[in-house]
Amino acid sequence: MLPNPPVVRHKQQWDLSTGPSDETVYMDLSFFQELQSRFGAKVTEFSVAYVLAHEMGHHVQNILGTLQKTEQLRRSGRYSQAQLNKVSVATELQADFYAGLWARYTDDRARILEPGDIDAAISAAEAVGDDNIMKRSQGYVNQEAFTHGSSAQRKRMVYERLHSGDIRQGIL
Ligand SMILES: [Zn+2]
Repeated sequence: MLPNPPVVRHKQQWDLSTGPSDETVYMDLSFFQELQSRFGAKVTEFSVAYVLAHEMGHHVQNILGTLQKTEQLRRSGRYSQAQLNKVSVATELQADFYAGLWARYTDDRARILEPGDIDAAISAAEAVGDDNIMKRSQGYVNQEAFTHGSSAQRKRMVYERLHSGDIRQGIL
């Protein structure tokens, strides 16, 4: 059984706040307003749960040693920023994957999904793709600077993994 990290509502931060140091998930609730107003995503209860599950996914990575390995790569000084960004994309997509698994198994057990929930999660995943965020904030897309994955990658992660339910597919 995994220890549960405490969840804290937080104003400034959103992503990857499950650090090895404090093992706490921080959620910036204004993020969801931004998701809706700036990035045009549908936000439902399930999208909020999904984002939380993504953060818990980082907590799983912390327990399994994945985050520590990526930190070692970063500190080694042997990799370019573009290469490290690819590692970051893989880590984020794996957290999306874990969130998809959570949704799948929780729905099997407790039927939590309502009509439109999957579409909303997909629309949220697409909205936070690096290309969409870059296009909207700076007007152009620089693939080498991606740190979370493109809209298409994130959408695929949510959609396919939600349907497969196979944890082995999330191995980096
Ligand atoms: Zn993340």
